Amino acid sequence: MKAHDGMYIGGQWRPAAGPDTIAVVNPADEQVIAHVPAGTAEDVDAAVRAAREAFPAWAATPPAERAAGIAALRDVLVARKDEIAETVTAELGAPLALSRTVHAGVPVLVAGSYAELAASYSFEERIGNSTVLLEPVGVVGAITPWNYPLHQVVAKVAPALAAGCTVVLKPAEDTPLTAQLFAEAIHEAGLPAGVFNLVTGLGPVAGQALAAHEDVDLVSFTGSTAVGRQIGATAGAAVKRVALELGGKSANVILPSADLAKAVSVGIANVMSNSGQTCSAWTRMLVHKNQYDEALALAAAAVAKYVPGERVGPLVNAKQQQRVRGYIEKGLAEGARLVAGGPEAPYETGYYVSPTVFADVTWDMTIAQEEIFGPVLSILKYEDEEDALRIANGTVYGLAGAVWAADEAEAVAFARRMDTGQVDINGGRFNPLAPFGGYKQSGVGRELGPHGLSEYLQTKSLQF
Ligand code: NAD
Repeated sequence: MKAHDGMYIGGQWRPAAGPDTIAVVNPADEQVIAHVPAGTAEDVDAAVRAAREAFPAWAATPPAERAAGIAALRDVLVARKDEIAETVTAELGAPLALSRTVHAGVPVLVAGSYAELAASYSFEERIGNSTVLLEPVGVVGAITPWNYPLHQVVAKVAPALAAGCTVVLKPAEDTPLTAQLFAEAIHEAGLPAGVFNLVTGLGPVAGQALAAHEDVDLVSFTGSTAVGRQIGATAGAAVKRVALELGGKSANVILPSADLAKAVSVGIANVMSNSGQTCSAWTRMLVHKNQYDEALALAAAAVAKYVPGERVGPLVNAKQQQRVRGYIEKGLAEGARLVAGGPEAPYETGYYVSPTVFADVTWDMTIAQEEIFGPVLSILKYEDEEDALRIANGTVYGLAGAVWAADEAEAVAFARRMDTGQVDINGGRFNPLAPFGGYKQSGVGRELGPHGLSEYLQTKSLQF
């Protein structure tokens, strides 16, 4: 696609306030593929004003009409899915097959789910002698990361629009082209001017201006815990609503009764997908001591299929590549043992990292505690179920996880004791309507489905 050299504000592409630009780089070959404007506080202010102006009419639009607008948006995302997939591959580096199925496919499901929810949701309820109105919170500032560049945008914009809110989006620096494509889709779907606005730019400049803007009612942020903490503090000081979707260090717990081969192979696929750049990836595999050696052999065989440049793409940029290689070196320095991969880059060009599996990892090592955000799996040994639970819950994060057992009830009993926002039982399928979000430092608030919609609503009770 051709990059826009302006911002999408008030239903049209307008010149940016300042002259600065951001270069967009293809991480597979390190070539600059486009430039987009680097927005300033002035651009953010114009976008927030447009969103504020559009808010009263959009909030008063009947939910069925808002639903029709979101359905039209979904239809444009379907019609342009090939272009979306190619754009994600060009700026994120994801293999085209993954871009087609996940990066272009999941947003269609999520937009569709909110078209249906907007039409069917009850924006009013009776509690005793009260009628409770569920009203939109107002102007939303959405700040998104690069790892699922369209999904993260749709997971915020679709429920916000369904609720009757208007939005200003500041997407990640590395993947602004997908965000521009999304703005085109909004336009093509015929949504009213100002309900969605896009400002590309740097996090500490445009992102910070958006999070701190006094006319933004809710900041919805997905990204690192470090930035999330800062945004939470800014929002708190202004008594502003905030939703934070942050990092993770999820445990894949394989109980002794489980189908070990299946659990290991699905576990490897989960971590290697999207080059390990998935906040909910199960980056710690927990295996009973009696099955440990067998699990290592299975993991080594499974990971061999993940060839960089074929099934595994590069990391998003040089900094992430360096960071992940640094973690692999740290793992070795702290005494973990390589089963596959290592810190050497597999190719000279492109930000690739070798799919890496570590054995002899203890729960307190850096690689078992910190989010690596690359194709790196740690396999940990547990003594018994209590030990497995201690390890699974022994990080500051609580975003996702998995449990495998012969009996579903046995797996569920373990899952109930995990401090985490979602658990896949025996490889359970993704559900676009299930709430997604974290316990502990993985975040505040939930996305997707009706729980995600309620983040954008506030209650007003009328007593009779
Ligand atoms: P990041 O926090 O650096 O950036 C995320 C977004 O915040 C970007 O748009 C960036 O420009 C913006 N930003 C950066 N500094 C800012 C500031 N001072 N004020 C306002 N905005 C600012 O994270 P990243 O490197 O883009 O993404 C990787 C991280 O995101 C990982 O830690 C990952 O776990 C997390 N993540 C979480 C989820 C989730 O749903 N929980 C999903 C995807 C990614």
